[in-house]
Amino acid sequence: MHVVFLSLGTNLGDKTKNLNDAINQIERRVGSVKAKSAFIQTEPWGFKSENTFLNAAIKVETILSPIDLLIQTQRIERDLGRISKSINGEYHDRIIDIDILLYFEDGNIIGDGLHIESPELTIPHPHMNERDFVTIPLKQIL
Ligand code: AMP
Repeated sequence: MHVVFLSLGTNLGDKTKNLNDAINQIERRVGSVKAKSAFIQTEPWGFKSENTFLNAAIKVETILSPIDLLIQTQRIERDLGRISKSINGEYHDRIIDIDILLYFEDGNIIGDGLHIESPELTIPHPHMNERDFVTIPLKQIL
């Protein structure tokens, strides 16, 4: 089993429901959710919006490879109603965003885990340490 840490965010609609729906889908399509942070309210980062965010981090056990994990998390984003991805690095309001923060192969939780740099996927997530909305929930479950 691999161990992955995911970041979840939403700033539209019923935000608590959006996070819970995402976690339920992850449980069904990615693997067993082993830890869940508190849901924390944060200000939009990198763009202006009147809609504040609700963020969380979760720890999941999975048999999925990193790229299959990305495919599943993107399917879940789409199924929960996310219309578009960020365009040219520009951010906007979203029903759900799921980011892959850290990936530990075979349950070996050592250092910051697997390093990947491909056009589709960068792990560890490149900006994770700069963003309180990622680091605060993540620290609760590490
Ligand atoms: P966003 O619109 O912010 O969700 O950005 C998603 C894009 O970032 C997707 O096209 C992914 O291929 C890419 N990406 C690169 N690294 C990661 C990662 N660690 N987790 C999630 N998406 C990633």
